Amino acid sequence: AKETSSCSYIIFDNKNSLSNDSHVAIESDLINAIRRNEFELFYQPRIDILSGKIIGAEGLIRWRHPEKGLIYPDLFIPTAERTGLIVPIGYWVIQQAGEDIQRLQASGLEIKRLSINLSFRQFQDSYLCRTIQRLIEKYAIDTSILEFELTESALFNNELHVREGIEELHKLGINFSLDDFGTGYSSFSLLQKLPISSLKIDRSFVSGIHNNNPDDREIVKALIRLALSLNKEIIAEGVETAQQLSFLASFGCHQAQGYLYSKPVPFAEFKDLLQHGYQL
Ligand code: C2E
Ligand code: CA
Ligand code: CA
Ligand code: CA
Repeated sequence: AKETSSCSYIIFDNKNSLSNDSHVAIESDLINAIRRNEFELFYQPRIDILSGKIIGAEGLIRWRHPEKGLIYPDLFIPTAERTGLIVPIGYWVIQQAGEDIQRLQASGLEIKRLSINLSFRQFQDSYLCRTIQRLIEKYAIDTSILEFELTESALFNNELHVREGIEELHKLGINFSLDDFGTGYSSFSLLQKLPISSLKIDRSFVSGIHNNNPDDREIVKALIRLALSLNKEIIAEGVETAQQLSFLASFGCHQAQGYLYSKPVPFAEFKDLLQHGYQL
């Protein structure tokens, strides 16, 4: 009953709930998933390129559907965003990440960063900061470890509104990173003003390194240079090959994330990777 009451301010889009497209999650299914606690947070390691050590992870949501099996976020996050269900789902993610940070610390495993994705839509919830503050207190979440990933479009869409939210959350000690860097329209002056500590180069450019795409290689170089000159941490996502890694390393990219090291894995497996390392 608690979940229902905390979701009561959400306005549902009834027209689309009648859609019968089996490839796209529908709201009634998603509401059930929230009630039945069917979500899981997987983790993909983030590696410090110089030392080769795992410094943390990105949390990525999955939906363990009782009949359909494991459902990837691309199939239900858009519906969750459209209907506002991303708000309660987003709180679940934060709470789960907080619990998992605690579990790692209890096992004596050190991580520097654990990031989760925050939708632009979540800033439309006027209780965002208060709710996150309550979660932080309830689960004693170490905010210096917590990082919220925001996409360029989220950041530069509704400037003032989102900006105020970011400032407020930053005061709680939360770090921010810019996701899918290079795909949107970053205003460099805004990038400087906002408390964003790291930039994540979008996978599309990283895959271009491998295909010897000269444009993508130049873009990656430029993005790394830009991040370094702005004094931001730079992370390459979607690193799949040793060739991509050495290219990134040669231009001073700090961190890498991708199938080369590990796919996103359940918490227990991530813990294992932290304890025993990954296999290249
Ligand atoms: P994203 O934030 O850009 O996450 C990176 C995606 O790239 C993940 O897909 C990850 O599994 C995938 N990936 C990582 N390394 C590689 C690689 O080397 N090669 C390839 N081909 N793919 C790689 P995933 O987990 O399916 O997530 C898709 C998107 O769903 C995410 O993109 C993010 O935008 C969204 N998402 C995931 N979890 C959440 C969440 O908790 N909240 C919100 N709002 N969005 C989420
Ligand atoms: Ca992300
Ligand atoms: Ca990304
Ligand atoms: Ca992406």
